[in-house]
Amino acid sequence: MTDNQPEITIVGGGVVGLSIAVGLLQSGHKVIVLDGKDNDARASFGNFGLVWGQGKGWDFAPYAKLTADAIDAWQNFSDNLNELSGLDVSLDQKGGFEFFTDPEEFKSFIGMLEIQKGHSGNRFSYETLSGDELRKQIPGIGSKVVGATFSQLDGHVNPLRFLRALQRSVQALGGKIRSNTIVKKTESNKNGGFSLTLANGTLISTEKVILCAGLGSMQLANQLAFKTNIRPEKGELLITEKLGSELPFLSSTIRQVDEGGVQIGGTNADVGMNDSETLSDMVDLARHAVDVYPALSNVRVLRAWGALRVMTPDGYPVYAQSEECPGAYLITCHSGVTLASLHASILSDWIDDNIKTPNLEAFDEARFKI
Ligand SMILES: Cc1cc2nc3c(=O)[nH]c(=O)nc-3n(C[C@H](O)[C@H](O)[C@H](O)COP(=O)(O)OP(=O)(O)OC[C@H]3O[C@@H](n4cnc5c(N)ncnc54)[C@H](O)[C@@H]3O)c2cc1C
Repeated sequence: MTDNQPEITIVGGGVVGLSIAVGLLQSGHKVIVLDGKDNDARASFGNFGLVWGQGKGWDFAPYAKLTADAIDAWQNFSDNLNELSGLDVSLDQKGGFEFFTDPEEFKSFIGMLEIQKGHSGNRFSYETLSGDELRKQIPGIGSKVVGATFSQLDGHVNPLRFLRALQRSVQALGGKIRSNTIVKKTESNKNGGFSLTLANGTLISTEKVILCAGLGSMQLANQLAFKTNIRPEKGELLITEKLGSELPFLSSTIRQVDEGGVQIGGTNADVGMNDSETLSDMVDLARHAVDVYPALSNVRVLRAWGALRVMTPDGYPVYAQSEECPGAYLITCHSGVTLASLHASILSDWIDDNIKTPNLEAFDEARFKI
């Protein structure tokens, strides 16, 4: 490695790549992050900002545990980012609700949470409330709400400030972020290391390469013999004008950003790389919000947007090192905000394969061969 040569190159400067960069830099590695163009699909710019446990991993115990670990680690992570970047990401972990207007869906979700609790033991807990109990606890909840679950562990952050805090933290730690830098080709060298060819023809040599390019990883992953198929899933969101008062709850679909506006989300649609908004989805989102909390009917919606989730075939994270090209890693997940606290900590031990290396075998892409 020469002075100008990165030891570790991370392809993708979204929340996944940047969180991993923070952890690797804090473990003493020399890291560069290569990030694509503004008009790339970028989930990190369009998400809901939840640090959320309810429902996560109910049908896959290792993911339930991973999520519980991530939620536990968030306060320290947020303090670390604050120290490094000078930015407060407004972490609020006072607990959150899942609201239901359909009794069957409510019942089935409680069943899922019971299984999740079985996986996590006393690390995950929740309460159920009937519609009437809820309306006593939170005056103003709509009559269509038949019940809710509440977990004290759930929370949220300001998603755009979080992204900015990560960028600043990487720079504060001496890492380099090169934006507008598209990796076109990745090759494993015969004598070790990797050569990356950029869209402008520049060659970069690196000891290790970590693909965290979200949906952009699709093109690069098979050049390094990864097998995971990554697909987009569109989610649409609304944001309202700032409220004069505090919303009296946080839910997975309705949350007040620390700046005052209420974010309402999110839909799920399998429409390829199309991230445009649709009127019918916006109407459904607004109707849901008003069903849950009728006072929102008087609040103006300022903006709506669509963004593409980065989905693996089973929806769970992939932490994989290429069998054919050791030193090349593919890291991708759907809940990149929630898991960021672990990405910035235990993943550097895993990449170093040191004595503290976590067991991430359940998240290897080998599971797709079965
Ligand atoms: C609507 C919606 C709501 C969500 N809500 C939540 C939530 O509440 N909580 C939560 O935990 N998660 C949530 N998520 C998921 C979360 O946003 C993602 O898991 C996370 O943003 C993924 O980050 P990423 O870095 O993998 O990908 P991205 O943010 O997509 O970043 C990938 C980066 O790679 C770059 N890139 C691509 N190709 C190349 C290339 N060839 N060369 C160089 N760079 C390249 C791109 O420019 C981009 O900057 C939500 C997602 C969506 C869409």
